[in-house]
Amino acid sequence: MSRMNHQDTGVTRSQTVDTVIQELEAALGASCVSTDPGELLAASHGTWPVEAKLERLGRLRSQTPRCIASVASATEVGAVLGIAARHQVPVLPLGGASGIVGAFRTAPGAISLNLRGLKRFDLDPVSMTAWVGAGVTVQQFEDSVQEQGFTSGHYPQSMRLATIGGMVATNGAGTFSTKYGRMRDMVQGLEVVLADGRCITTHLGPDASTGPDLNHLFIGAEGTLGVIVAARLQVWPAPACRLMTAYAIPSPERGLEALRQIVVQGLRPALVRLYDEAEAEGLWRAVDAPPGAGLLIIGQDGRADVTELEMRICREILKGMGVEHAGDAVANHWFAHRFDWVRIPEWNDRAGGIADAIEVSAPWSRLPAVWNATREAIAPLCARVESHVSHIYHVGGS
Ligand SMILES: Cc1cc2nc3c(=O)[nH]c(=O)nc-3n(C[C@H](O)[C@H](O)[C@H](O)COP(=O)(O)OP(=O)(O)OC[C@H]3O[C@@H](n4cnc5c(N)ncnc54)[C@H](O)[C@@H]3O)c2cc1C
Repeated sequence: MSRMNHQDTGVTRSQTVDTVIQELEAALGASCVSTDPGELLAASHGTWPVEAKLERLGRLRSQTPRCIASVASATEVGAVLGIAARHQVPVLPLGGASGIVGAFRTAPGAISLNLRGLKRFDLDPVSMTAWVGAGVTVQQFEDSVQEQGFTSGHYPQSMRLATIGGMVATNGAGTFSTKYGRMRDMVQGLEVVLADGRCITTHLGPDASTGPDLNHLFIGAEGTLGVIVAARLQVWPAPACRLMTAYAIPSPERGLEALRQIVVQGLRPALVRLYDEAEAEGLWRAVDAPPGAGLLIIGQDGRADVTELEMRICREILKGMGVEHAGDAVANHWFAHRFDWVRIPEWNDRAGGIADAIEVSAPWSRLPAVWNATREAIAPLCARVESHVSHIYHVGGS
């Protein structure tokens, strides 16, 4: 048996690699524990642009997990966490690896806990909720509920890769978050395995004055407080109508004030995307419109009569602010191409490539100043800075 350098691996107690792996193989079956170098390398990073560059430089090879344990049930998750706790080995829950904050680089030598085999799906059409396994991708979930006349309302741009467990663990927000909410709003219950291997189910009533809501301990905690094995999510009747339109925006300040006015008037368009001039450029060019202005895309869905009325009121608000309507073509183009990531690997293949993508949020009173200050802070570091607001709330946006 080979002894590893514990300082290098992050392992805190004297032990051998083989003991941990042997126990995992006994619990899960040898075929569910991988030490294949290529698979370990793939499990050592997400989709953060910085990781793409480090991988090209060969600098992720020394930071791989010790093994990947693939599980298909809460009991198996409990078994892995029990072994890890006994040997004091870190565990990194692995969903679709679409995360963009470098979460998998923190504990080389850890057990990578592959949750993609957790595939439960169980819809309650009367209560409009569904139990979904952590390993179901967001796209698979949407396809499953659509087959039964519903929508999840959750359409992040990474939906073909990201899993439900990953989305809950990062408090993810989809592109239609203004109407449907983010994960924090959608979760109606969780099944979670704690570090000691116990499986708990949080309160499942619609809502009640029964003390702190335990769901909020785990939503956004990135697996630090427990491994999510399934989530009970609310679903919505599939919308009968979906409308998209666009406005040319003279300045970010005017665009942000327009969004604030929409919220003040009590409207919640499902989709809101306010692009600065730089990020709007490619979208304008794609529909043969001259670049040079910012772009606001607004989308709404639901009953046709309500949707049309809300879109009309938004248009009146924007007209009252002197904002020019730019037709539907550019909005429909964005919608049709919203899952194209073509530019990202392309840009990362060039010197420099994409430096990073960061989310910044601020209350309405500070949002224009924060938008400008963020751009100014980044400008000396990058050849090009693109910014947009894509989630708005009662009190501000991000
Ligand atoms: C092109 C692109 C577009 C994106 N668009 C969006 C977007 O619109 N909205 C958005 O919110 N995000 C977006 N993201 C970011 C990413 O998709 C989300 O953070 C997503 O939630 C990650 O899910 P995942 O299954 O890939 O999780 P992973 O990347 O595998 O994991 C993310 C974190 O969650 C932990 N984790 C994973 N599964 C579990 C679990 N079951 N229990 C406990 N912890 C767990 C991991 O340990 C890690 O810390 C985008 C990313 C890319 C690359």
